[in-house]
Amino acid sequence: DTTQPRRVALVTGASRGIGRAVAHELGRQGRIVVGTATSESGAEKIDADLKSQGIEGAGMCLNVTEQASIDGVLKAIGERFGAPTILVNNAGITRDNLLMRMKEDQWDDVMDTNLKSVYRVSKACLRGMTKARFGRIVSISSVVATMGNAGQSNYAAAKAGMEGFSRALAREVASRAITVNAVAPGFIATDMTEALPEAQKEALLAQIPLTRLGEPDEIAAAVGFLTSDAAGYITGETLHVNGGMNM
Ligand code: NAD
Repeated sequence: DTTQPRRVALVTGASRGIGRAVAHELGRQGRIVVGTATSESGAEKIDADLKSQGIEGAGMCLNVTEQASIDGVLKAIGERFGAPTILVNNAGITRDNLLMRMKEDQWDDVMDTNLKSVYRVSKACLRGMTKARFGRIVSISSVVATMGNAGQSNYAAAKAGMEGFSRALAREVASRAITVNAVAPGFIATDMTEALPEAQKEALLAQIPLTRLGEPDEIAAAVGFLTSDAAGYITGETLHVNGGMNM
């Protein structure tokens, strides 16, 4: 519908990996895209990257663990492009350790960055979505939320929490035509998996029926679908994209 205003999408952690691929995909769908990085120089890089792809939008600096940072970015987006009606909660970290050795700060950092951030950023975007009577929230979970993974009790708890959060919020906002979903990637070729030891990577591949890691674009395609008008009747769902690792 050409009479509709162009939708503004906010993608957290868009400097590389899955977030960058998502920003590109949403841009290809004609969204105005704001991608965030954790530094000013990272934000400038995203800015240039989006331009080079012919995507309207901007790179902005955001720390999802700081409420003031979130408020500042939403104010800036509102003034420049209008309130975002598409949110992709992608920013995330790992701090792996067996529970016996896990330090409290490893637990807390993952909870804060991967789960509390979803509470903070989603809440901050809801007013604009409610006003627009349209919204799409997609959070990037993980196959580890359902399968578990030794050394990732903090990460699995945060991702499973994110999926439960999405189902509860989906029920709260459905009457406003806002959908809330998750995409749960398996193991995707990014900096996060590049850091794994070679032996662990081999063992991983043996568990994947499609016999390869996934590509960031393959996650972006799922996010692109869930944020589209075509997916308007899907809410509270987790879409698994894992090469058959968990079925
Ligand atoms: P990545 O490490 O390449 O990118 C993570 C992004 O998050 C970066 O842009 C980083 O700057 C950002 N980020 C980190 N801390 C932040 C903070 N405090 N505030 C704002 N941004 C912050 O990782 P990726 O592999 O592209 O992962 C993206 C998402 O996908 C994560 O949520 C991750 O848990 C999830 N995921 C990844 C895989 C995989 O195999 N790579 C699998 C399942 C889920």
